[in-house]
Amino acid sequence: MKHVIALDVGGTGMKAALVGADGALLHEARRATGRERGPDAVVESILTFAADLRAYGEEHLGESAVAAGVAVPGIVDAENGIAVYASNLGWRDVPMRELLGERLGGVPVALGHDVRTGGLAEGRIGAGKGADRFLFVPLGTGIAGAIGITGTIESGAHGYAGEIGHIVVRPDGPDCGCGQRGCLETLASASAVTRAWAAASGDPTADAADCAKAVESGDPAAVEVWRNAVDALAAGLVTALTLLDPSTLIIGGGLAEAGETLFTPLRAAVEERVTFQKLPHIVPAALGDTAGCLGAGLLAWDLLSTEVSA
Ligand SMILES: [Zn+2]
Repeated sequence: MKHVIALDVGGTGMKAALVGADGALLHEARRATGRERGPDAVVESILTFAADLRAYGEEHLGESAVAAGVAVPGIVDAENGIAVYASNLGWRDVPMRELLGERLGGVPVALGHDVRTGGLAEGRIGAGKGADRFLFVPLGTGIAGAIGITGTIESGAHGYAGEIGHIVVRPDGPDCGCGQRGCLETLASASAVTRAWAAASGDPTADAADCAKAVESGDPAAVEVWRNAVDALAAGLVTALTLLDPSTLIIGGGLAEAGETLFTPLRAAVEERVTFQKLPHIVPAALGDTAGCLGAGLLAWDLLSTEVSA
């Protein structure tokens, strides 16, 4: 059966699938990146995993994969197929597309940025299905974004488009790793809420999910921490929707798991701030941690349809 390899490389683990033309997941697998052994070992883990997936297809699906899509974190030059930099994996300027192509018998390979690739899947087959223009914002350790425009994700001139986590929402706010102060991700990421709630509750092990639970039980200190995060998030999102005018705003990541505890006040805070802007639908992400892998599959199939029509 005709299929592609989809591979999503995270900091510690990799998720992979063999995906049919109709999007069916024909085989799924997970493996560790082995980052404790250094960047060269991580690259080798990726190449070996891809080769093993190819062999699985030959053995169980009657043919080898016709293309591959790979999503990686950090800075990605998708056009040239280079994994430029990833702080959590330690690599620099890895010619990933070329290396994978060699290992996979010369099939076409697409390389994508993890969040933009996940956003592609959320926009096309997940929470934004049918949305012409959307913004996908996962709230995790940090905050990133994927700008969806008519079925593709805008990567910008240098591969940095969508970095909504580094929009300054509190000019006198906490220092950010990027060198600015008061960036959105220092105030509204899952990590930021964890830090704020650990300090406010006096429990160093308390995290953002605990904060959400305390909000639900009416704890005033938790309500205050939560309100600050939601207010910062609304400020950042309104800046983004003022620029982009999306029809759908898809919010994912760990913090979105709080469900309506997040979405009800967030919708209200965004609505309160907009004046002339049209309100987008604000919805939770639908694909969870499989978004990156499903997006990598879409990248691979897109590559084939482009080649056929070119
Ligand atoms: Zn920043």
